[in-house]
Amino acid sequence: MIHIKDAQVLYKKWQKMKEEDPNLSCDHPTLLREYADGIGKTGDRICNQCGTAFSANEA
Ligand SMILES: [Zn+2]
Repeated sequence: MIHIKDAQVLYKKWQKMKEEDPNLSCDHPTLLREYADGIGKTGDRICNQCGTAFSANEA
Protein backbone atom coordinates (compact mmCIF):
# COMPACT_ATOMS: atom_id res chain seq x y z
CA MET A 1 0.00 0.00 0.00
CA ILE A 2 1.07 3.59 -0.55
CA HIS A 3 -0.02 6.74 1.23
CA ILE A 4 -1.76 9.31 -0.95
CA LYS A 5 0.89 11.91 -0.05
CA ASP A 6 3.70 9.59 -1.07
CA ALA A 7 1.88 9.02 -4.32
CA GLN A 8 1.80 12.77 -4.95
CA VAL A 9 5.52 13.05 -4.20
CA LEU A 10 6.25 10.23 -6.64
CA TYR A 11 4.12 11.89 -9.29
CA LYS A 12 5.86 15.26 -8.91
CA LYS A 13 9.27 13.62 -9.04
CA TRP A 14 8.33 11.83 -12.22
CA GLN A 15 7.04 15.05 -13.82
CA LYS A 16 10.40 16.70 -13.08
CA MET A 17 12.29 13.79 -14.56
CA LYS A 18 10.07 14.04 -17.62
CA GLU A 19 10.88 17.71 -18.02
CA GLU A 20 14.53 16.76 -18.21
CA ASP A 21 13.90 13.77 -20.47
CA PRO A 22 10.69 14.08 -22.54
CA ASN A 23 11.21 10.57 -23.91
CA LEU A 24 10.81 9.08 -20.49
CA SER A 25 7.91 6.69 -20.31
CA CYS A 26 6.52 4.32 -17.74
CA ASP A 27 4.68 1.09 -18.41
CA HIS A 28 3.50 0.99 -14.80
CA PRO A 29 5.08 -2.33 -13.79
CA THR A 30 3.82 -2.25 -10.20
CA LEU A 31 0.54 -0.84 -8.92
CA LEU A 32 0.04 -0.26 -5.22
CA ARG A 33 -3.22 0.27 -3.38
CA GLU A 34 -3.57 3.85 -2.25
CA TYR A 35 -4.72 4.82 1.24
CA ALA A 36 -5.38 8.12 3.01
CA ASP A 37 -5.63 9.22 6.63
CA GLY A 38 -9.14 8.88 8.02
CA ILE A 39 -10.39 7.19 4.84
CA GLY A 40 -8.36 4.04 4.52
CA LYS A 41 -8.22 2.63 1.03
CA THR A 42 -9.22 5.15 -1.62
CA GLY A 43 -9.92 2.45 -4.19
CA ASP A 44 -7.23 3.82 -6.49
CA ARG A 45 -4.02 2.10 -7.46
CA ILE A 46 -0.76 3.98 -7.79
CA CYS A 47 2.17 3.14 -10.03
CA ASN A 48 5.15 2.98 -7.69
CA GLN A 49 7.43 4.29 -10.42
CA CYS A 50 5.63 7.34 -11.83
CA GLY A 51 2.86 7.91 -9.27
CA THR A 52 0.03 7.81 -11.79
CA ALA A 53 -3.31 6.93 -10.22
CA PHE A 54 -5.65 4.38 -11.73
CA SER A 55 -9.18 4.06 -10.50
CA ALA A 56 -10.29 0.58 -9.53
CA ASN A 57 -12.47 0.04 -12.58
CA GLU A 58 -9.69 1.22 -14.94
CA ALA A 59 -6.99 -1.25 -13.96
ZN1 LIG B 1 3.99 4.26 -14.07
